[in-house]
Amino acid sequence: MRDIHSLMREESDGYSSDNSDFSMGEVENALNEPDFGILFDVDGVLARGSNPLDQAKKAMEKLKDANGHLRVPCAFVTNACNRSHDKALQISNWFDMEVSPDQVIHAPTPVKLLREVHDKQTLVIGQEHRLDIAKDLGFDNLCTIEDVKEAYPLLDMVDHENRVKVAKGQYKENPSFPRVEAILLIGEPTHWESNLQLLLDLLLTQGKPTEAPTDVHTVPQIPVIACNMDLVFMAEACMPRFGHGAFLLCLEALFKKITGNELHYVSLVGKPCEITYRFAEHTVSKIAKRMGINKPIKRLYFFGDNPHVDIVGANLYDRYIKQNALNLQNGNTTSTGDSADEDACSVSSVDSASSLPSSRIIPENAELHDQTVEHCLSMLVGTGVYKYGTEMNKKGPDGKYVYHGHRDIAHEPELTNPHKYVHCVDKGIDYIFERESMVAL
Ligand SMILES: [Mg+2]
Repeated sequence: MRDIHSLMREESDGYSSDNSDFSMGEVENALNEPDFGILFDVDGVLARGSNPLDQAKKAMEKLKDANGHLRVPCAFVTNACNRSHDKALQISNWFDMEVSPDQVIHAPTPVKLLREVHDKQTLVIGQEHRLDIAKDLGFDNLCTIEDVKEAYPLLDMVDHENRVKVAKGQYKENPSFPRVEAILLIGEPTHWESNLQLLLDLLLTQGKPTEAPTDVHTVPQIPVIACNMDLVFMAEACMPRFGHGAFLLCLEALFKKITGNELHYVSLVGKPCEITYRFAEHTVSKIAKRMGINKPIKRLYFFGDNPHVDIVGANLYDRYIKQNALNLQNGNTTSTGDSADEDACSVSSVDSASSLPSSRIIPENAELHDQTVEHCLSMLVGTGVYKYGTEMNKKGPDGKYVYHGHRDIAHEPELTNPHKYVHCVDKGIDYIFERESMVAL
């Protein structure tokens, strides 16, 4: 498709020598093609638990065309850990519209980009569907903590029932159990004490706990990937509940206490890390192409209810893309390749994040659509975690901020300030329509 400005100029000035080249319909289509995308957190923005919010139903109706299809490329970004096709079906039923599984980005989804670990013998930690989720991410050789416990029955002495079994000789070791070459933490497990013991055993023995390490301080660490660093989350209870971040905190503390070293993550994924927003941009570009939109996506609107996760993440990504653009301008990094087809993405070579901890750097070989967004706008809603007028950053009795974020994400309270606060997602869509001069149908 030709550039819209040239089409408009030709249409109004009559400069075109061949009128069959374009028509008013073509101009209108080009004019209606959005060059922005919308990302939605789910819980607290579109729904509470399993019930969709009325304001979200109104918002989605505004986004539909006469045929009930979305007019703007959208994706859903949640820190939950589930199977994407289940969530897509749920959102589709809530709002009576088509949602494909690849429009849903769960906390672990960007691990699809970490191809160098996919063929490693990987221990996956989490709860329901963890093996299905890991397979869907691209892992071929998987095992669970139950497999490790069964292969090495002498290790788990925090489980007193296991102590009794061992004392009675009711066990069989399997020293030929394959070496664990990577650990994928997709969600908090049950029986933390046993998981923590066995994870430490694997980390101290390079994945083969048949012999004690000679020096725990110098053992090379096998790759560890963690998804979703939320310390707590809101559920039905009156107080926040432990999230996956609480489990990670225990693992990091034990590792440091025993080895004297910081636990190193190959990658941290999930909001608020940059890789998740980069993957979300890639997804929106893919959806846009699927919708027949040929313009590059220039702006992303991110709706979230949690200032410390959704909003910090959107603001971090906005900073990331601006830094990336600056680096390109200064010739510090190579540009990304040409636009990719849906099934044949280009290889992205973004490395502007060199000032970030290594756990947050987006791999250079990640197969992604080009990074075209120039501005990521954070939209905070008041229908979930955040209550309008309350202090976003809590101070302790000593006057210092209490920070619940992860160790690898520096505490910057100003990042919790959104581009725009709106009462609900419906009001946010009105704001976007006005800002983008989009006509309501
Ligand atoms: Mg939320």
